Amino acid sequence: MTGNWTRNAFVYLLILVAAAALFLNVYGPGEAPQKVSLSAVARQVERGEVTRIEVRGERLQVYAGENSQPLASRKEEGVALTRTLHGMGVSEESLSRVKINVQPPSNSGNWFALVINLLPLILIAGLFLFLFRQSQSGSNQALSFGKSKARMFVGDRPTVTFGDVAGADEAKLELEEIVEFLKEPQKFVALGARIPKGVLLVGPPGTGKTLMAKAVSGEAGVPFFSISGSEFVEMFVGVGASRVRDLFEQAKRNSPCIVFIDEIDAVGRYRGTGLGGSHDEREQTLNQILVEMDGFGTDTNVILVAATNRPDILDPALLRPGRFDRRVTMDRPDLQGRRAILDVHVKGKPLDPNVDLDLIARQTPGFVGADIENLVNEAAILAARRNRRTIAMSEMQESIERIAMGGPERRSRIMLPKEKERIAFHEAGHAIVAHLTEDADPLVKVTIIPRGAAGGFVLMVPERDRYLAKRAYFIDSIAIGLGGRVAEEIVFGDISTGASGDIQGITRLARDMVTKYGMSRRMGPLQIGHQEENPFLGRELTDQRDYSEEVAEALDSEVQAIVGEQLQRVRQILTAHRQQLNDVAAALQKRETLNREEFVEVFEGRVASSDLPDPLELQPA
Ligand code: ADP
Ligand code: MG
Ligand code: ZN
Repeated sequence: MTGNWTRNAFVYLLILVAAAALFLNVYGPGEAPQKVSLSAVARQVERGEVTRIEVRGERLQVYAGENSQPLASRKEEGVALTRTLHGMGVSEESLSRVKINVQPPSNSGNWFALVINLLPLILIAGLFLFLFRQSQSGSNQALSFGKSKARMFVGDRPTVTFGDVAGADEAKLELEEIVEFLKEPQKFVALGARIPKGVLLVGPPGTGKTLMAKAVSGEAGVPFFSISGSEFVEMFVGVGASRVRDLFEQAKRNSPCIVFIDEIDAVGRYRGTGLGGSHDEREQTLNQILVEMDGFGTDTNVILVAATNRPDILDPALLRPGRFDRRVTMDRPDLQGRRAILDVHVKGKPLDPNVDLDLIARQTPGFVGADIENLVNEAAILAARRNRRTIAMSEMQESIERIAMGGPERRSRIMLPKEKERIAFHEAGHAIVAHLTEDADPLVKVTIIPRGAAGGFVLMVPERDRYLAKRAYFIDSIAIGLGGRVAEEIVFGDISTGASGDIQGITRLARDMVTKYGMSRRMGPLQIGHQEENPFLGRELTDQRDYSEEVAEALDSEVQAIVGEQLQRVRQILTAHRQQLNDVAAALQKRETLNREEFVEVFEGRVASSDLPDPLELQPA
């Protein structure tokens, strides 16, 4: 069919353009000059080593002698270079010895930048051409934006399997059931088993959520339909919902299969307060997703998988039973995890024998799978540029630094040795208080690998469901929450921002004790204020403040009293266990993660942290 042909041609064209852009990005244009910081330039100028500086916009080319290779640097935009250098302590005299040529910022000869600038235009032109051809071919789908893009993915059967996702064993275990169902749905249906419709993959960016979703479909050998939440947002009014309808229509026709909605938070954010009022595009799209999910019969063998790194902002309606009620967490990998991911990505790449993958894994706490893939790839590119036949340790080391120092968004993932120490004490503080208090949930493991916004995490799992939480449970939970902050205070004399998430949780707990559960001794069993649940949206919409100023003040002081009391208690506990605090923190710095038994052994002084087995040696080679 001609329609098909044009579509294919269009797709090929896109791929070609993308490949060319990628190629240029990596290899062109020419060899990049060595980059130095502006302060390094300032020092060189001061030492009289610089003869000439070419300024082009914010880019600098620094020459030391006429025949030498220039160094590249950057200055602040819109501020004269001389002023900036002056501000960095360079004397007038040294400056006067440097010839500074300012050139208009141009991209003369930089046709690569030109292509990049024109790319959107080319794409738009391509799109119009595509639509035009389609309408000519007589197909009435010509302008049907509403037709699901999923159509393009029919028969897309990912080749990735669980083997390609390293170090996410718990997640794989949870998803195993889904794979089995997709392989043989009849078996489950015949027994009347209820299989989850929706699985929510939760984790920070780059932890392999998309990869995992594909792996599930690859393992089961079923088609994979995917769409990204952010795509919906850009669409015309009314299109999002019809797209969802089409997507599911296609999926049902091709069942058993997987529908993957990436970045579901883009459409699934909790809906506005406008009751029957503002029905914006996003809201309609979300409603349609819910309608489709609720319409699944027992014979609809479609599993919906969604991914998000912001489960906290999702509309609760999405998380109700029968919707995305299964949650699978993709955490940042720990030491063993990173080692396993390294293995996946160095496969098929020639490594120098001096490459120590264990060491690389140790040096990269905070890296996610995507960082590790990136690290190996950068090292390979570096080695190729240096005309090496193998990737050596030096290239690996350089790439770690590059990625660690890359944009601000990435820098936050990296843990410097000093931070690692602080986080270790912080988490040790939480863990020790958790261990020594009796009424909160027991400690399961403690780790310094960041989870969400917090630096690390002490996982506590309720022994049994707590229908009726006792006052002591709240009190001990508050104490545990304070443990991290107090440990930092004792050891370092100050508190880092890492404790801010804890403080939120603590305040919430203390307020709830007083306002919701009537657990305050002073205020007595009163409900103070009340939350109105919206019957349709099922979300707490408004905090009704139907109490007086005096009550509000009493409430605040009661919350303060509860927290203050626990602060005293936790200070006592941790000061009395200062030695254990050191031991646990040392063990955490070495191991990153301690399970309950390991924690107890270290805490009780039965094992010195230096004698703890090395996690990488525990691994079967
Ligand atoms: P997310 O969807 O969570 O942002 P992706 O699935 O897009 O992350 O991951 C990006 C890339 O990083 C993957 O294509 C893969 O190459 C690599 N990666 C991430 N996690 C892992 C992992 N656990 N094992 C192997 N590779 C991984
Ligand atoms: Mg993704
Ligand atoms: Zn904490």
